Amino acid sequence: MVTMETLVSLCKRRGFIYPGSDIYGGLANSWDYGPLGAQLKQNIKAAWWKAVVESRQDMVGLDGAILMNPRVWEASGHVATFNDPLVEDAVSHKRFRADHLIEAWIAKKDPESTLVVDAMSTEEMAAFIAEKGIKSPDGNALTAPKQFNLMFETSTGVTEKGKNSVYLRPETAQAIFVNFKNVLTTSRKRLPFGIAQIGKAFRNEITPGNFIFRTLEFEQMEIEYFVEAEEWEQHFEAWNKWMEEWAAVIGLKTDHLHRLEVVGDALAHYSKRTVDFEFDFPFGKKELWGLAYRTDFDLTNHAKASGEKLEYTDPADNSRKVVPHVIEPSLGVDRTLLALLVSAYEEEEVAEGDTRVVMRFTPQMAPVQVAILPLMKKGGLPEKAEEVLASLAGIARCDFDVTGSIGKRYRRQDEIGTPLCVTIDYDSLEDNAVTVRHRDSMEQERVAIADIASYVVKKLV
Ligand code: ATP
Repeated sequence: MVTMETLVSLCKRRGFIYPGSDIYGGLANSWDYGPLGAQLKQNIKAAWWKAVVESRQDMVGLDGAILMNPRVWEASGHVATFNDPLVEDAVSHKRFRADHLIEAWIAKKDPESTLVVDAMSTEEMAAFIAEKGIKSPDGNALTAPKQFNLMFETSTGVTEKGKNSVYLRPETAQAIFVNFKNVLTTSRKRLPFGIAQIGKAFRNEITPGNFIFRTLEFEQMEIEYFVEAEEWEQHFEAWNKWMEEWAAVIGLKTDHLHRLEVVGDALAHYSKRTVDFEFDFPFGKKELWGLAYRTDFDLTNHAKASGEKLEYTDPADNSRKVVPHVIEPSLGVDRTLLALLVSAYEEEEVAEGDTRVVMRFTPQMAPVQVAILPLMKKGGLPEKAEEVLASLAGIARCDFDVTGSIGKRYRRQDEIGTPLCVTIDYDSLEDNAVTVRHRDSMEQERVAIADIASYVVKKLV
């Protein structure tokens, strides 16, 4: 499997992802998506939105605000319980997740252990750390674990006196629950139906890291799917299946994907059943996405706290009012992108002692779909290539590259995952045809310029 070092360096070199605030020496654990990364991210979000909103009659979209009334987070339980167990190195005061240190200790010292660390209380963790003598990664003693709330607090209002505390949302889901009534009234959907949303979320993670895997600011694609209480299992299973299928559609290596049934106290405060979709990242098997049965927890609590009725009236029997139950497929955009990079990366020996790096993105995900490459910078070739480029406008995402040897240009396109390269040579001026080179097979074929648009459309499906 590709190492993180290789991936991070490729991402920077080719313009997928840069360290955040780079010219100021960066800001720990912040990353900026460059031209190719921004496009890849866009492709992931567009594919998801198309699949879950545009192609379905039982789903609608929403784009809620990041800042919400703080009462939302009290009602949702986040103020009280959205915590991680924090321990500090008693000497350096560096902070660590107690659960992560215990997991690392078990993996090293007692790999056969069946202990579910996520299910341990703060007191149990404290006792375990003391009993086993677990130290900080720097070898020092640890303080007792305490619960640390992950929500970022900020304030609105221009004068000190009039300032109000607000939170940056730690998940996008709550905007969906808060708008349940608005959406129901305006969209006139019937159960079962879902609301989908893409947006930024913020968590003051104790130990961010592993590149874009765990950051303080990230994007989520979330669905709240509202169902009759007694039908939750069948809808849970349907989304469970859908998530695996969608992983394959976008090009994730499905043999890297594993389901983990979350049990007991490890379940989030709102959930009756959760399946984590884990992925084999270069740093281990870690959560990629989550699927949770949230019961009627959120709607009931928001109804109580706001005084609004958040109910659904059965169209077949107006006297029957129900609070729908909820299935929540929750996907992180950034983790999906990282898993796609890991899935796509391949080093291939093309000749004795000669290897190429190729990103095997699907044509839909590839940031660049067609590279237009005039063989020479002169002799009318760039002008002819411009004609080809114009014929593909609105059909494919193209990159026009005139610099360097053709071999190097092919390798560069392989490394960014471009499925097709179109080369314009001197013969093109005579026969009005171009050479198309395929990323995966490296085979080449001659195609008439007049046919190139329809050819590309066929190849990119
Ligand atoms: P973890 O156990 O890794 O902290 P979580 O169970 O807290 O994740 P959820 O609350 O289920 O995560 O959030 C849904 C999805 O949002 C996750 O599956 C993941 O894809 C993404 N996500 C959560 N936290 C982060 C983060 N700090 N950075 C990037 N993506 C994240």
